[in-house]
Amino acid sequence: MLQFENALARVLEHSLPLKRVEEVALWHSLGRVLAANVFSDMDMPPFNKAAVDGYACRRTDISQNLTVTEVIAAGQLPQLSIVPGTCSKIMTGAPVPQGADCILMVEEVVENSDGTIRFLGTDTKSNIAPQGEDIRKDELVLNAGTFIAPSHMAMLAAVGVSQVVVSQKPIVSVLVTGNELVEPQYKPQGSQIRNSNGHQLVGQIDRCGGLPNYVGIIDDSKEATCRAVESALTSGDIVILTGGVSMGDFDYVPEVLKNLGVEIVFKSIAVQPGKPTLFGKLNRKLVFGLPGNPISSLFQFEMLVKPAIRKLMGSTQPTDANIRLPLAIDYSRRMKDRLGLVPAFINLNGEIEPVNYHGSAHIFALSQVNAVFFAPIGATHFKKGELVDVRQL
Ligand code: AMP
Ligand code: MG
Repeated sequence: MLQFENALARVLEHSLPLKRVEEVALWHSLGRVLAANVFSDMDMPPFNKAAVDGYACRRTDISQNLTVTEVIAAGQLPQLSIVPGTCSKIMTGAPVPQGADCILMVEEVVENSDGTIRFLGTDTKSNIAPQGEDIRKDELVLNAGTFIAPSHMAMLAAVGVSQVVVSQKPIVSVLVTGNELVEPQYKPQGSQIRNSNGHQLVGQIDRCGGLPNYVGIIDDSKEATCRAVESALTSGDIVILTGGVSMGDFDYVPEVLKNLGVEIVFKSIAVQPGKPTLFGKLNRKLVFGLPGNPISSLFQFEMLVKPAIRKLMGSTQPTDANIRLPLAIDYSRRMKDRLGLVPAFINLNGEIEPVNYHGSAHIFALSQVNAVFFAPIGATHFKKGELVDVRQL
């Protein structure tokens, strides 16, 4: 059976950046991917800047009483130069006047009765941030492919980018298969259950930067599946189907995809849960068939679909990093020939706690889950305190 790492490598290999760009207002750029490098249009700081509130003066004068000649607020230009025996009171962020080479911190200065000031210390740092110390004009400040976080929004603002060139969101269609499914607003009757996957997937797509196109519940018939997939392949970039990919009599997804010319890259992976996970491609379009069970679907989206969406968006970091955390309790499992994805949460002590769950349909267990830990193939017993690989969700 295909190992997870190989499955991910195949997905990434077939996920080609869309290269469709659009401009968004800086306010709306959070979570988008930069489509072009960004350069600074100016030095930063743009002038020699006071790093503290205090008195700008000449270092050679700091043991003398100094006459205060002006007060410089942030946002004001100094009017006077510093000459021997003088200083200017200056606020953090204001331009340093000509002639000054240091700023005495206000905390270390006393005012004399004649209005002059005196430094109480013996030596001082310069307390001046020189022009261009942080960034030079025309310097590269952000790379294309960066996922825009709030700190990047600060950077964009600082270099005057109020309209940001970002990759368009990939259109990701969600088709849920299953004759047993009804939408949340209906009370299931008899053999029916509510469709929870579809909504979970829409949330996941939205959160990772894709544009969800919720198609709806598709009957377990070849005709209905074929029509829905064909239309989704035309209108979007990625098609996600849930359910219908395993070995049941009415699991038509693989057959329908083949008939539509989709090349099936893999049909199952050595993971638990989520073994019957399908990945296929038609030209540049991608198709994922995720298991119907909500926990399997949640995890396989995180592990495989999310990196694909990010790669289509041009992200240079499509996969999330794992962290290593100590287990909060002993943990054991029976299955050892597949990679275990164990639903878990990171507790307030920074330990990883497996969540008790009794099968991949146990949605209620999900409400506590904020992470998954990886139980490697071959490993069945884990001791409290042992470090394991963890992925935050
Ligand atoms: P399947 O992969 O179609 O064999 O479905 C596996 C299990 O997941 C069955 O118990 C289904 O009823 C359930 N299931 C399938 N689709 C959904 C869905 N959209 N929401 C909740 N459960 C589902
Ligand atoms: Mg089904």
